[in-house]
Amino acid sequence: MNITRQKGCKDILPDEVKIWQYIEKNIKEICDSYNIKEIRTPVFEATELYARGVGDETDIVNKEMYTFLDKGNRSITLRPELTAGVVRAYIENGLSSKIISPIKLWYTGNMYRYEKMQKGRYREFNQFGVEIFGSDSYLADIETIKISSELLRRLNLLDKVILSINSIGCENCRNEYIQKLKEFEKPYLDQMCDTCKVRYNKNPLRMLDCKEVKCAKILRDAPVITDCLCEDCKNDFEKLKDGLNKLDIKYIIDPGIVRGLDYYNKTVYEYVSKDLELAVGGGGRYDKLVSTIGGAKTPAVGFGIGMDRLVLLIKEYELDKNINEVVDIYFLTDEDTYFESLKYVDELRKLGYVVETNINNKSFNAQFKYANKVNAKFVVIIGEEELNNNECSIKNMDTGIQEKIKLNIDSIKEKIENAWI
Ligand code: AMP
Repeated sequence: MNITRQKGCKDILPDEVKIWQYIEKNIKEICDSYNIKEIRTPVFEATELYARGVGDETDIVNKEMYTFLDKGNRSITLRPELTAGVVRAYIENGLSSKIISPIKLWYTGNMYRYEKMQKGRYREFNQFGVEIFGSDSYLADIETIKISSELLRRLNLLDKVILSINSIGCENCRNEYIQKLKEFEKPYLDQMCDTCKVRYNKNPLRMLDCKEVKCAKILRDAPVITDCLCEDCKNDFEKLKDGLNKLDIKYIIDPGIVRGLDYYNKTVYEYVSKDLELAVGGGGRYDKLVSTIGGAKTPAVGFGIGMDRLVLLIKEYELDKNINEVVDIYFLTDEDTYFESLKYVDELRKLGYVVETNINNKSFNAQFKYANKVNAKFVVIIGEEELNNNECSIKNMDTGIQEKIKLNIDSIKEKIENAWI
């Protein structure tokens, strides 16, 4: 029997892992610099969490969840997104009394959705996200946009995406808008797709998300929510736009953005690839989710970015060539000098250098070939004679210059650092 991986899953091989690690490194550096703390939550949760949190009228909950009964007859779901799980953990662990508010958390993790496979759409995929609890200010919304943009900027992807923003108002103005929207849609309902017909009664806002051409055509003339915002929401949205302008963050306003999940209010946004028809990430404010899941009323805002899609874009634009996979030093030895060399090797590794050694136990020539193949910047040569004289040879592989130096860490370091200046 030929056992293969499951549909919609991938094996990430070393060549691609280096891209993931590069993204993860940038995520960690950014989050550390904003004093955002990492949180890790379970891969499966009670199904009820998503039905209540994400909304049982959403595609995710309706069609895409991996749900099963465990041996104890509990309904379990593999997480289809991470915000609901983070909110559950925030409430259950009483984080509001343990960490100073606003509480800023980040995560990366696999999620699972039973989706139709296509480029960039998998059944197991990974997201990076940030959630901020306890600030009702638009400044927190801006902070999340700033962080997500900063990641895209560092990955050289910022100019490859469009940031679209919208406000879907608060409960008051949204309900008023929904009435207007339904009035507009009613006469066209016969001409719309079956999903839209169902959504008309259950969640009319989501009709704006419909990708069917005939529905999109009708909805092009629908009233827009930004014309119906109450004073408070309108002010917030104006201030948000002003703030983004001040920060020189480019965006467009797209009243069609409502996001696929039920929990959002006020600010919502999405990053979409300019060249591939793919959403890269999205987020927004969700002031009611914490109380919906059983916690105290807590304003919150956050985003999620698809890591697989970042990797896809990096490959698409061949930006992975910029990711340095460097071997700083190759230690070329024979079997007799090998063990003696290791004390220098390990010391240099402790200092942060990437060092490879002669674990193949091959000839000097073969080792030089290997050092070339792995792009070693320097080769340190320690033969019997060098060792006896307490010396080594060091070859700069870029310039081809080889010299004899004292065999100690300081002189090796000095040679390398001077070459880098
Ligand atoms: P969502 O939680 O649906 O708003 O998705 C947030 C981001 O996760 C999207 O913009 C994508 O980058 C990514 N994403 C969502 N679903 C998938 C999937 N099935 N496969 C790969 N990435 C996905």
